[in-house]
Order: sequence, then C-alpha cells, then structure tokens
Amino acid sequence: MSCCARFDGRLSDLSDTGLKIKRGGQVWPSLLWLVDLKQYTGIRLNALLDPMHLLIPAAGSGKRMGAAVNKLLLPLLGQPILAWTLQAADRASSIEWIGILSQPGDWPAIEQILAAMDLSTPVQLLQGGATRQESVYRGVEYLYNLGTVERVLIHDGARCLATPKLFDRCSAALQQVDGLIAAIPVKDTIKVTETGPKGIQIQSTPERSRLWAAQTPQGFRLSLLWQAHREALAQGWQVTDDAALFEKLGWPVYIVEGEESNLKLTTPWDLVLAEQILQQRLELAR
Ligand code: C5P
Repeated sequence: MSCCARFDGRLSDLSDTGLKIKRGGQVWPSLLWLVDLKQYTGIRLNALLDPMHLLIPAAGSGKRMGAAVNKLLLPLLGQPILAWTLQAADRASSIEWIGILSQPGDWPAIEQILAAMDLSTPVQLLQGGATRQESVYRGVEYLYNLGTVERVLIHDGARCLATPKLFDRCSAALQQVDGLIAAIPVKDTIKVTETGPKGIQIQSTPERSRLWAAQTPQGFRLSLLWQAHREALAQGWQVTDDAALFEKLGWPVYIVEGEESNLKLTTPWDLVLAEQILQQRLELAR
C-alpha cells in the first residue's frame, strides 16, 4: 500500500489512536486509525494494511535466569513466558503469521504450548541458531526465500509484556519507513567506562536527552534486512539487535515509542516484576 507519509524526523510520538509525528513529516492519519479498528469491529485488516510477518527469536537458554531450560518455557502466572508473548502477538490486528525461531530440542514443549492455546494466527516453528543474530538470520532467510514477504517485525520471545497495540503501532509505522525499533527514552544517566588502573573508570557521560533504550519489536523491509544480514555474515559483524546492522550500513532506523513495561525477562528479578505487571493487567481487565 502506498502512502503519502514523508519523514525527516523520528517516529517518536505514536498515540494509542493513531500516529503523530513530533519532529517534521506528514502522515496519512486514516491508515493509522485503521490499525485500531479491529478492536472495535473484530475484523482483520489484511485488505487495508500489508499483512505483517512476525519472527520471534526464542532459541536462547536459561543461563542468566539461572534455569536449566530455555527461560521462555518457565512458568509465569499460570502459563509459560512464550505463551504470553504469543498471546499478545496473536491479539494484534496486524500480525498475520508468526515464525518461532527455536532449538529443535524445545519443539515438543513449544508444540504443547501451542496446543494449549487458541491462536487465530498461523504459527510455524523454525530452527534457531547459536546466537540471536543467527536465529534471526535463519528466519529472515526463510521469509526471503518465500519470495512474497515485503516487511517483517522481529520481537524477542523474552519480551512477553509487549501489548498488541505496540505490535500494531510498529506495523503501521513500517508501512512508511524501511527500518524502525520500539524504544523508550532513557531515565538514568548513562556512563561510558573503560578499565582504569584501580578498576572500572568513567570515560564520558553521553547527553541523556539523545539516549533511547532499544526494545523490540523491530521492523524492516525484508529485502534490506536480508541484505544486511548477508553483509554481516560476510564481514563477521556481531550485533545484539537487527537495527545495529542497518546502522552499520548507514541506513536510517526510526524510533517508535515503546512501552515502559516491555521488559526483557533476563534475571529472576524480572520474573517477579513481570508477574506483578501481568497480575495488575488481569485485575484491571476484570
Ligand atoms: O538472551 P537474551 O534474552 O538477550 O535473548 C534475546 C532473545 O533472543 C530471546 O528471546 C532469546 O530466546 C533469543 N535467542 C535466540 N537464539 C539464540 C539466543 C537467543 O533466538 N541463540
């Protein structure tokens, strides 16, 4: 779908009911309004928005969580972490297909999770790799080989608190740019350090107003992301998110306002926080 949007700034103010561009640019508001329509009408919007493919990297371990199994299989308020992530993606109007990058050893457990859920979005299990980057590479390769997919969102399975609205905001914004990430402004003062003679020593303090904490979803035009991943493989680049590949190539990546509660569950403390947040959401929904 073509659109009249033009950007010269960041996608930094995306409201619940549509998308507003704070710093320059125009947008076709009806396109963005439509993203929220399913909420009220129950209809899917594939005819209006490009169907969005979502890759969920879920092939990690439970090491930093102190678990012997993949942390995404750990229970959180009655269901595995991965089930919460899938539930949010399934409830997003814009997501039409989900690919889970995972280790074959986890497939029986993931199939069990899927069997216990009533998802309306088709889900495919794809083999992950030894690193997140390799897992995403494999997912992007799979979609690229299909030859029909234009855009892709990537969302870490470990960010199980992302809301359906965040997926839809990212999908809508991706109709208009080739690279974006969800991110939130940094609240802490961040220090850049180096190893000094007596320990870790501060080297500099970046200006906080320019700092954003990267989250997922991250979204890209598929052909460009594939090109970026191929280049990374050729050059031996190792990155912790996909936006970094675009940055290395000098391609623009825009910011979509993320969610403070969109934590990446990494340590046991994150599990405690996530449980509280989910509990509160369930109570509010009652
Ligand atoms: O370990 P961390 O939480 O930073 O990983 C981010 C996401 O990448 C997680 O959802 C994890 O399952 C996924 N991952 C992956 N393949 C790996 C390592 C991590 O898909 N080899």
